[in-house]
Amino acid sequence: MEFNTKLLHGTAVKRYAEGATLPPIAQVNAFRYNSAEELDRVFHHRAAGYSYSRVGNPTVTAFEQRISEMEGGSAAVACSSGMTAIMLSLLNFLCSGDEIIASAGLYGGSFDLFKDLEKLGITTKYVRHMTPEELGPLPGERTRVIFGEVISNPGLEVMDIRSVADFAHGHGLPLIVDATTATPFLVNPIALGADIVVHSTTKYINGSGSAIGGVIIDSGRFPWDFGKFRGLGGYQAFGKAAYTVRLRTGLGENAGGCMTPVTAFLNVTGLETLGLRMRQICQNAQKLAEALDQIPEIQVNYPLLPQSRYRDLAFRQLNEMGGGILTFRAGSREKAFGIINALHYAVKATSIGDVRTLVIHPASTLYIQSTKEQREAAGVYEDTVRVSVGIEDAKDLISDFCEAVSASR
Ligand code: PLP
Repeated sequence: MEFNTKLLHGTAVKRYAEGATLPPIAQVNAFRYNSAEELDRVFHHRAAGYSYSRVGNPTVTAFEQRISEMEGGSAAVACSSGMTAIMLSLLNFLCSGDEIIASAGLYGGSFDLFKDLEKLGITTKYVRHMTPEELGPLPGERTRVIFGEVISNPGLEVMDIRSVADFAHGHGLPLIVDATTATPFLVNPIALGADIVVHSTTKYINGSGSAIGGVIIDSGRFPWDFGKFRGLGGYQAFGKAAYTVRLRTGLGENAGGCMTPVTAFLNVTGLETLGLRMRQICQNAQKLAEALDQIPEIQVNYPLLPQSRYRDLAFRQLNEMGGGILTFRAGSREKAFGIINALHYAVKATSIGDVRTLVIHPASTLYIQSTKEQREAAGVYEDTVRVSVGIEDAKDLISDFCEAVSASR
């Protein structure tokens, strides 16, 4: 099946209760059984069934099965937000004393989370560019994982997933990727060797900006060494499934960062149009980037522009597309504010991946917890404007932005 067909007719679709075309919303906390024996079996995982929606819920399962199928994973666990997904994806197997290697250009929230993890004894070493050459000297005795974004937000650095996965595996490490900005429409990281994929479903998967959510997808392929990955201690019997089993029946359940049934329903609905939206969004973003690139006083960053060091990689790895985000440097903070204020269609709001075009000045909003050096490593300068391109008609977006640049001169 091709991508859009699979979104509507994948195997997981046929499992919705009563043959419903969308999963019914099971908006309940608890599930009723006829006997104490039945509940005993469900609680001990000796019988299939739901007990409590923090542990599992049929609408959430429907979303997990759909996204796992679209990513080519073995299983998925849905979470209350993208940040919960990132946190649980790591805490599921890391312990105090362990070390993460991550790209310096991470999304600001992830960067802040990794700072929080230091207080738990989990430290992070940063690499400027996520390439085997730059990663080369970094893995040490305590390193347990490599973490990066497929297309970093907002630096727009593209990870060569296969080469980073090969590097990680050569050092006995799993590769976790945040694929929020790429979505399965642009690439399936698992097919290129990634071991765990996380998404903030808040963005392109939901698509309409109607619910915060996240998801962790396990490839089920990483050969966990239970002596080295102490956080998975006690799960040896599950072999390669140990990661998912702990996430589902251990930490995920205990931490309580579950997705709500309504969010899962909205995400399944959003997923059905992911291909259509992403195609229009990526085409719009490319056209807008090319149009803005003609204006001499602004400097545009978009992976498919000729000046981007990621142009060939994006073309080859990302389905010949460059994603839905572009940034530009306006010349000064005042000019950046002037352009943002003069826009008519682009909504001045945080977030990305909406059907509407969203625009923000990252230095004064998303990166207020970071130092100048950290901001610049993430591609954020005083004059940077981030645009998350929507599905409006490209012609309107181009004239809106070009007029806003002229008005701010
Ligand atoms: N990962 C990336 C790349 C993001 O852009 C974001 C949010 O902007 C997140 C994770 C966090 O997602 P959430 O806001 O759903 O917690």
